[in-house]
Amino acid sequence: MIKANLNKLLMELPATVKLVAVSKFHPFEAIAEAYGAGQRIFAESRAQELYSKIETLDSFRQGMAEKAAAEGGDMDVAKAYMADVQWHFIGHLQTNKLKMVLPYVSLVHSVDSVRLLDAIDSWGRANDKITSVLIECHISSDESKQGFSMEEFSAFLSENKARGNVRVRGVMGMATLTDDEEIIRNDFSRLVKMSGMLRDTFGDGCNEISMGMSGDYRIAVEMGSTMVRIGSMIFGDREY
Ligand SMILES: *Cc1c(COP(=O)(O)O)cnc(C)c1O
Repeated sequence: MIKANLNKLLMELPATVKLVAVSKFHPFEAIAEAYGAGQRIFAESRAQELYSKIETLDSFRQGMAEKAAAEGGDMDVAKAYMADVQWHFIGHLQTNKLKMVLPYVSLVHSVDSVRLLDAIDSWGRANDKITSVLIECHISSDESKQGFSMEEFSAFLSENKARGNVRVRGVMGMATLTDDEEIIRNDFSRLVKMSGMLRDTFGDGCNEISMGMSGDYRIAVEMGSTMVRIGSMIFGDREY
């Protein structure tokens, strides 16, 4: 099922759009199955859940290594198991949880404040890691959605502060939860505009636009998304 869902999506997505499989609330086995079907990028939205999945992967590898050692099998195969998996973080990140997330992820989509950006930068300086991030922009009319407002975004672009341990790669946003396509298109066009402002300030290295989920990825792709974050269409409904 997971494999068929992935193949269906990949047939549809242009080659330039990266597919981020959102595995939150699904067990590690579902990730392993998607990996077996060729998927490499997975995203989680809660620090603890990401961390425990990485621990599960570690214990899988260890189990395989012990088995290989006992049976004279190939240890390198065990060590290499899912070695090229990439983890992304897409949820609200508390500054006291950075150490559970930043060592393991190749991209944080959800930097929703300058304070968090600063915290990631100082963590990186202390731990010798440069973290790639996206600036989460508040584009929806849903009250609860976090992210930079246009005012905060403009202030951020004009502050001109150097942060050596973060690389801003682009923007991320979530459209209003609605069936009204026009509202979704308006939300996404705000994000595309903010992406342009970001590139004007930081240059072409920050051209990623993370937009589109199971319900609205077709519109997002049509409007210039470079990364879609898809959960339920791959893994099925989540049980909270
Ligand atoms: C859960 C989540 C998704 C995936 O949602 P689906 O509707 O299951 O595709 C995408 N982005 C973020 C930020 C999420 O929290």
